[in-house]
Amino acid sequence: MSIALYIQGRNRSYTPHQSGWVAFASSFAKSADSRLTLITQGLPPDKAAQLGGFGADEVMVVDGMPPVSDLHNSIEALFPLFKEKGKTFILFGNDTHSKALAALIAARLEFGIVTGVGALPESFSPLVLTRKAFSGKVLTSTLVGKPGVVLVFNAGVGEAVAGISSPVIAELHLNGNSDEGIVVDSEETGDGKQLLTDALRVVSGGRGMKGPENWKPLEELASVLGAALACSRPVSDEGWRSHHEHVGQTGKVIAPELYVACGISGAIQHVAGINGSKVIVAINKDKEAPIFEVADYGIVGDVNTVLPSLIKALKE
Ligand SMILES: Cc1cc2nc3c(=O)[nH]c(=O)nc-3n(C[C@H](O)[C@H](O)[C@H](O)COP(=O)(O)OP(=O)(O)OC[C@H]3O[C@@H](n4cnc5c(N)ncnc54)[C@H](O)[C@@H]3O)c2cc1C
Repeated sequence: MSIALYIQGRNRSYTPHQSGWVAFASSFAKSADSRLTLITQGLPPDKAAQLGGFGADEVMVVDGMPPVSDLHNSIEALFPLFKEKGKTFILFGNDTHSKALAALIAARLEFGIVTGVGALPESFSPLVLTRKAFSGKVLTSTLVGKPGVVLVFNAGVGEAVAGISSPVIAELHLNGNSDEGIVVDSEETGDGKQLLTDALRVVSGGRGMKGPENWKPLEELASVLGAALACSRPVSDEGWRSHHEHVGQTGKVIAPELYVACGISGAIQHVAGINGSKVIVAINKDKEAPIFEVADYGIVGDVNTVLPSLIKALKE
């Protein structure tokens, strides 16, 4: 059995979600009684080694690749490595680039593919995976019949502990051409500062904010907390905020440590995008709003009075 995890660095570093994926992949490999090879792209060797220390046995530090947006040639260059290091399982996180790569590599290797993996398999032989369905309302068991499988992890999985392994590091220069065959163009930033999908804290506004002119307190709260901004779908449909901030079933799926929902009812389609959050705080003037069913802390009140008090208290 051989297991490989692929991580594309961000700004020549890695994010907390990515270290969580290494930790989770490490537990996965241990349960399968196998070694874990981490394949990194866009990371300098020292950062790749640090990331590997979250549980990998071996790190392949790849450079000389075409730009990550050039998916076709990325696959061409990486294919032999995936084939050698991921004979049984090839694992990916759920960022835009990884998901696109996962689908193509599964097709190319004629592997099965399972997305939305948030728990270790129920069994390896046969491979049975537990996954959420219907916006997280039910858990399903997925039986995989293929001998080789590509898996895409959810954000927020894995308890990352630095330095728990001392992986062997190998640097690899791949000669990837670039003809921009298939280009994945992704723009994920919500607030221009950090990627919404990477953020550990998120402040989000719904239709209860009443209009784009009322976003100042949310921006201020986000700034005090060091958080990214998000919104419900009607807010982006109305053009109050960019679609890049929309979370939910049809938007981004996020799993921050803290999610603050302001004037959001908590419809099932919204909750589908945020129910991986560790702590949910909801501010809503309707005490019956469904968001309170999933919130860890709820404040029943008007955002116009609660937000300024909250910001003042946090500043103090
Ligand atoms: C197929 C499908 C996919 C969908 N996908 C998504 C998705 O991905 N993401 C998503 O968000 N939605 C999605 N929706 C829409 C979803 O069903 C809800 O309509 C939407 O989430 C509601 O947004 P909201 O909570 O901002 O607005 P509303 O439902 O209008 O809720 C506004 C809330 O603000 C509160 N409020 C009002 N004024 C104040 C105030 N002054 N102070 C405090 N609270 C106040 C109200 O009590 C209310 O609870 C989808 C729907 C469908 C059918």
